[in-house]
Amino acid sequence: MKQRLPILTLVFTLGAFVSTSSFAKANRYTVVGDDEKAIEKALSSVGGKKEKSYQHLKGVATYLSQGQAKQLEEMLGENGKVIRDEFFQAIPPMEAEIQGKPSGGGGGTPAQVVPWGVSAVRAPQAWAYARGAGAIVCVVDSGIDMDHPDLAANILIGANYIDGTTWDDGNGHGTHVAGTIAALDNTIGVVGIAPEAKLIASRVLDNRGNGTCGDMADGILGCLDLRDQVDPGHLNGLVINMSFNSNCAGWELVEAATQTANAAGAFQAAAAGNYSFYSFIRPAVFANVHPATAVNQDLTFASFSNWGFVPGVHEGWTAPGNNILSLWKGGGTRTDSGTSMSTAHVSGVAALMYSAQSLGVGAIDIGLPYEQQGFGLVDALTTVLNH
Ligand code: CA
Repeated sequence: MKQRLPILTLVFTLGAFVSTSSFAKANRYTVVGDDEKAIEKALSSVGGKKEKSYQHLKGVATYLSQGQAKQLEEMLGENGKVIRDEFFQAIPPMEAEIQGKPSGGGGGTPAQVVPWGVSAVRAPQAWAYARGAGAIVCVVDSGIDMDHPDLAANILIGANYIDGTTWDDGNGHGTHVAGTIAALDNTIGVVGIAPEAKLIASRVLDNRGNGTCGDMADGILGCLDLRDQVDPGHLNGLVINMSFNSNCAGWELVEAATQTANAAGAFQAAAAGNYSFYSFIRPAVFANVHPATAVNQDLTFASFSNWGFVPGVHEGWTAPGNNILSLWKGGGTRTDSGTSMSTAHVSGVAALMYSAQSLGVGAIDIGLPYEQQGFGLVDALTTVLNH
């Protein structure tokens, strides 16, 4: 008996070691499937528990070890898909980090500025024909500063798809994008491309600009739900602005959401990427999503911008993206650069397209290769005259 004891001890130790190594590190997963009750039951039988239900995506978020995830996958079979879905840097650091001191937002606010990008896409000339009324733009981002004095009157509704709390902008990025699209035409801040368009805030990114593919997909579907709430008759055109990177493991969820949004009639614009390489990031690369590359103020191609328009494959434009003055959280303004900013210009012009009830988004050939400019520099004036 005494001689067997060490062997038993060894077996026990090995067992403990195996279970420790496979259960110690929990990763975030999204489990999708039509039957949420069945997913929850399977989840509890592998020792996991639901972190949250999504609002629109069919499925749940959870934290599991790799071993548990594998077990769950086998258990669910065709009734569910287990997708690794970690928080991912969806806003590139060059845009998300505070680069300069924000201005305005207190006493002594400077007079309203027309940013160079708004002029470059000829929005002021287009305003004689349309100013954005009749268009709703859903900004899927870090939220929108809900009481920004140069924006609040245009915000219809918002929701947080991360944890159901506030959709107020915790980063600033979403407010910057929203300002380029629809900052008010008044005496303060900037003026947006479509100053009479209305905004929906779909918050999917946290204060650092991180998000999960599950939340991004939920937030895109959320745009459709929020639109139904504020415009049940769908009398307005819907634009969805996606100034983020969804190259996370669960990108198929985001792709499926963009397909649903397309079927619902939304115009979707997305950032080409700030990585200076050929080919677009997701979701810009998805079918029926319009990529936006970036140009500088002298209309040369921005060095940070991805490119890679292929005729017949991608339908998109280039747009102002460098040194763009717009709004920031806390009530002020800030200059930022990136294809997120160019995406906002495309969305603003798309809002004018709906506002003018025109046939499509217009462009100007600025002489760049097709793979860089796509249809050309996005242009508000030819857009509103396109009948
Ligand atoms: Ca203004």
